[in-house]
Amino acid sequence: MMSINSNKVFHLKTEVYKQMVEHCISEAPIEACGFISGKGQVGLTCWPVPNEKESPVRFAISEDVLKDTFNKIEKKGEQLTGIFHSHPTTRAYPSFNDIKNHTYPTVVYIIISLLKKEPVVNCFYINKNREVTTLILKLI
Ligand SMILES: [Zn+2]
Repeated sequence: MMSINSNKVFHLKTEVYKQMVEHCISEAPIEACGFISGKGQVGLTCWPVPNEKESPVRFAISEDVLKDTFNKIEKKGEQLTGIFHSHPTTRAYPSFNDIKNHTYPTVVYIIISLLKKEPVVNCFYINKNREVTTLILKLI
């Protein structure tokens, strides 16, 4: 029997998955973004935030929004477990800039592609050496 490395699986509450995808669809054609909080490899809460760049190909989160959201996550007794953003017209894989600008190597990076009729959601780790690992996303 094959064993699955638990580090390569990220568990996400189905409700959070839905909120995340809905936020991305509602923001299109602008790239949408937000945070996922929870415990360890589990995402329990979705925090959609405004894309400061209001761009269809880039996203940025302002310092104020960042601090405010991190405070709320702490108050809830959770930890930051993921960052998500949409790719309105490209596939669900980190772009050159995503890899270059990724500053949280310990949390998962979720990309929602709206390229096709059905949204495609993929989950990654990007380490300090800019290496991309694809994780299995399991809904709970
Ligand atoms: Zn991207």
